[in-house]
Amino acid sequence: MAATLASSGMAVSGGGSIKTDVSTMPRARRGLGTRSRILIDQARWLVLNAAYMMDTVGNRAAKKEIAMIKVAAPNMACQVIDWAIQVHGAGGVSDDFPLAAAYAGARTLRFADGPDEVHREQIGKLELARYRI
Ligand SMILES: Cc1cc2nc3c(=O)[nH]c(=O)nc-3n(C[C@H](O)[C@H](O)[C@H](O)COP(=O)(O)OP(=O)(O)OC[C@H]3O[C@@H](n4cnc5c(N)ncnc54)[C@H](O)[C@@H]3O)c2cc1C
Repeated sequence: MAATLASSGMAVSGGGSIKTDVSTMPRARRGLGTRSRILIDQARWLVLNAAYMMDTVGNRAAKKEIAMIKVAAPNMACQVIDWAIQVHGAGGVSDDFPLAAAYAGARTLRFADGPDEVHREQIGKLELARYRI
């Protein structure tokens, strides 16, 4: 996220705060920062909901929510890192930035804990079971 914003014309200070110079920021790049924030926070709320379910009703009852974050979080990370790579141009896939390595790590999670398809299938079955279909 910071990499996307930094390359979008936003200065990221050491403490993590971001000073925005909107006037110098290309509109398309600004849009990627905005879309990244939306995707990241969507995934965060899904994770928070899964954690809440695990704490309150247990892991077994929360298996759909757990499967949902196993799909949503790495897909979100892949998309956000991909945008960061794009705004960095060829530099984004060079060793000058950690983005390519970060992408490989996030991409690996889409099958390391079971392929997306398997989690999606489980979510579908659990969802249909709610309606006795
Ligand atoms: C870094 C890393 C850590 C890992 N850690 C563990 C671990 O701790 N414990 C462990 O048990 N395994 C672990 N694995 C293995 C991982 O679970 C498997 O790689 C994964 O389940 C996919 O199996 P596969 O590689 O044999 O590919 P395949 O089973 O050949 O799957 C290839 C592709 O086929 C599709 N596919 C497969 N099955 C289905 C299905 N049922 N429905 C629809 N499409 C499907 C998917 O697109 C999938 O990506 C790890 C893998 C990596 C890379």
